[in-house]
Amino acid sequence: MSERKELTCIECPRGCRLTVEVDGARAMVSGNACPKGAVWGAQEAVSPMRVLTTTVAVDGSARKRLPVRSDGVLPLGRLLDAMTAIDPIVVRPPIRRGDVVVRDLLGLGVDLVATDDLLGDGR
Ligand code: SF4
Repeated sequence: MSERKELTCIECPRGCRLTVEVDGARAMVSGNACPKGAVWGAQEAVSPMRVLTTTVAVDGSARKRLPVRSDGVLPLGRLLDAMTAIDPIVVRPPIRRGDVVVRDLLGLGVDLVATDDLLGDGR
C-alpha cells in the first residue's frame, strides 16, 4: 500500500511543492522543477537526513560553549542519539574552525567539526 507525502523542497530558494508517492523503499516524486528535487524528495520521504548543529562545552576559556556541526548529514532518527553522545564532550583551546571535535560520530561516517575558532583568551 502506497502513501502520499506533500513536501517543500529545501534544496534551493524556489521551494517547489513536491508530491511523493512512497511504496516501501520506492518513492515517485512529482512537482520538482529539477532533478535535485527528485533526489531530495525521495530521500526525505523514505529516510530523512539532517545536518546536526549544536554546541559543546568549553574548559580553559572565558567562552562556555563552542559551536559545532556535522560535516555531512545524519539520519533524522539518530539526532537524539548523537546529541546524547555529544553532551559529555568538553573541549579545550586552541581549536580552529574546521577542526574535528568528534571523528565518525556514532559510526555514521560524519565528523563533528568546530564552526568557530577557540583561542583560549575568550575569543
Ligand atoms: S526541485 Fe529543484 S528548483 Fe525546485 S526547489 Fe528543489 S532544487 Fe529548487
